Amino acid sequence: MVREFREYHTKDAGIFVRVKRVLWEGKSDHQNILVIDTETFGKMLILDGAVMFTERDAFIYHEMLVHPAMCVHEGPRRVLIIGGGDGYALYEVLKYPVEHVTLVELDRKVVEVCCKFFDKAGAFEDERVELVIGDGTKFVETTEGKVDIIYVDSTDPVGAAKALFSEQFYRNVHEVLGDGILVAQTESPFYHIEFIQGVKSKLTAVFQNVHFYTVPIPTYPGGWWSFVFASDRYTPYEIRREPPADLKYYTHEIHRAAFVLPKWVEEKLK
Ligand code: SAM
Repeated sequence: MVREFREYHTKDAGIFVRVKRVLWEGKSDHQNILVIDTETFGKMLILDGAVMFTERDAFIYHEMLVHPAMCVHEGPRRVLIIGGGDGYALYEVLKYPVEHVTLVELDRKVVEVCCKFFDKAGAFEDERVELVIGDGTKFVETTEGKVDIIYVDSTDPVGAAKALFSEQFYRNVHEVLGDGILVAQTESPFYHIEFIQGVKSKLTAVFQNVHFYTVPIPTYPGGWWSFVFASDRYTPYEIRREPPADLKYYTHEIHRAAFVLPKWVEEKLK
């Protein structure tokens, strides 16, 4: 029976993909989890009906989440990833000689399912990795240690992920970071520009330097996604380091271009 997966980005627009096979479907304590194999995008992880990533375009999102900050910072030793239970962001971070990576993922089932069906989850076996199953907002509230880079690779700002976009969370992150770098996914400039404006005003109340950047993601709302780079010490324009040789999307030129925003977005984020 030919099946389709549909994700609605508004009440009357979205994407659909033809499904070859449903590989796993279930409900964890936190969300519905679906893994499908598709004609066009390969395997896809879907949480609560929203595409998290596909085998075909995951490299774009995860290279652009991880490598800008990694190429700006002189030499991050300790890294924190909040969310990212699929292991893709972790896999990119571990390409650098970091000493320790803590990954705080709310939902153990996401890690288990991704270890079973996707090929980056082996990153969790790296001896430098500490996997914490818990809420990232609580983690940054209570952790003693300092880290050099924090990545927020979360679901959309609803449910448990909502607090990851709050000013209090950013203040706690600022404490943990010192003069390090925060990078967070910040939704679709096409559909969520007002939300991104809100993130900007919260972050500029906490960090000296706040810069948004964008990237095309075929399977995300609007086909176009945003990230934010925030730091007291660093700006994204000081590229110091070379990226790993095996990347397919990130280059220093793409890094610089990603921070150039279209006129209307620039004006909205003034
Ligand atoms: N890397 C993929 C992408 O391309 O966007 C997806 C991100 S990853 C699957 C999103 C994860 O954030 C989910 O597994 C979800 O359980 C986790 N998450 C949501 N809220 C969280 C919180 N407060 N603390 C820790 N993890 C959280």
